[in-house]
Amino acid sequence: MAEILHKVIEESRQGEAYESFVGDPNIFNKKFYIESYGCQMNFSDSEIVASILHGEGFGATRNFEEADLVLLNTCSIREKAEQTVRNRLQAFRKVKDNKPGMLVGVLGCMAERLKSKFLEEEKLVDIVVGPDAYRSLPGLINEAETGQKMVNVLLSREETYADISPVRLDSNGVTAFVSIMRGCNNMCTFCVVPFTRGRERSRDADSIISECRDLFTRGFREVTLLGQNVDSYHYSDNGAEPVNFAQLLERVALISPLLRIRFSTSHPKDITDDVLFTMAKYENICKYIHLPVQSGNTRILQLMNRTYTREWYINKVNRIREIIPEIGLSTDVIAGFCSETEDEHKDTLSVMEHSCYDMAYMFSYSERPGTLAERRYKDDVPEDVKKRRLEEIIELQRRKSVESYKNDVGKTFTVLIEGDSKRSGEHWCGRNSQNKMVVFPKGELKLNKGDYTEVKITSSTGATLLGEIV
Ligand code: SAM
Ligand code: SF4
Repeated sequence: MAEILHKVIEESRQGEAYESFVGDPNIFNKKFYIESYGCQMNFSDSEIVASILHGEGFGATRNFEEADLVLLNTCSIREKAEQTVRNRLQAFRKVKDNKPGMLVGVLGCMAERLKSKFLEEEKLVDIVVGPDAYRSLPGLINEAETGQKMVNVLLSREETYADISPVRLDSNGVTAFVSIMRGCNNMCTFCVVPFTRGRERSRDADSIISECRDLFTRGFREVTLLGQNVDSYHYSDNGAEPVNFAQLLERVALISPLLRIRFSTSHPKDITDDVLFTMAKYENICKYIHLPVQSGNTRILQLMNRTYTREWYINKVNRIREIIPEIGLSTDVIAGFCSETEDEHKDTLSVMEHSCYDMAYMFSYSERPGTLAERRYKDDVPEDVKKRRLEEIIELQRRKSVESYKNDVGKTFTVLIEGDSKRSGEHWCGRNSQNKMVVFPKGELKLNKGDYTEVKITSSTGATLLGEIV
């Protein structure tokens, strides 16, 4: 159970700080520390921020007490995420009290909503910067060094940071995230993202291809194309042929058959047959889709403004399995959305039963200020009921994960080696195409991180496959 919960909330990456890199030829005269919370987009943004700061002579450190600049890249998705950030800011303030030159900044999704609270009322920070304003960081830092409080939370309709090459500070050197779009136009009623990250915009396709090609040349073997809704990717430039997501996927796939491609997240309403056929056509496009369902009940889906019904979602899952039978599927689920009845909750369980996800991120509904749900509906499912429904969802998923992983015993998969397994230096770990983690003994073969190998699965848990090289 612990293993599955660990995956559900991705506790291991929350609050992760970047390490200074070994052998970096640049000499940095100042140090920055950055901690990231929330979704993969935020982690990816921190790499853009790191790149901008490098240009200003800042090197990264993992110890905030020695930093000249301490940054928190924040998440607003749930109330709990905000509370964690607040606690961290209080810890930084204690250090800052004895180190007056140190600057503390808040980046990301909490910036707009809490800027005046953090800066003026609670006096916790010196700089507040929203997700579309990272280019202004150097100027804001200069001003803040003179003792001023600096804010830039302007959202943009154009900014994609297309020309900034992210610094892969915390990387295994094999897998990397590449942002292909920013913002979201979907207006799911529970979600703050459209307000904190602004309108959807797609990044220049050529800049995505050259970033992926560059990563491949540097030895990376897997890229994950990132966006809140990747299937609505659409880039057109001054009369040139527009590029949609299926075409982008194909262009990345053609860089090299040795470069694996993943993507996240897919909105069920936007994933097309075109995308599915492109996935089926190229061996190196991983057979894995993260397809958030949120609820299995049509009335609740309507209240959430997800724009699909229960039946439509089920048909989409069936279609995906028809075109790509070996697909790995995962999802996001929210328990206890406004006015959800017991029967409607059961509809969520039955969709999960039908879909057979390998993994799920499971949340209880947390009302977020400014969202459409906060304005329109009452958050009226009692906390204990939400908690119990979430537990039922987690328990069902635990059973489904165990089943799905057990079904793989006896199969052979191509695994991309990501590094030593956590449990021992004698074992490799890596993923199969379906995104399942595979652990296996290194044996006599002289393989390296970034190599592909065939592994036959001999046993499983609910979150890992164990096997041996064949
Ligand atoms: N764009 C993606 C999508 O539509 O699936 C993911 C966006 S969000 C960063 C990740 C997940 O957080 C959502 O899919 C949803 O399950 C969950 N989430 C968002 N707002 C929430 C809220 N107010 N309460 C609970 N969970 C929430
Ligand atoms: Fe939020 Fe919905 Fe956009 Fe995902 S698709 S980021 S849940 S508004």
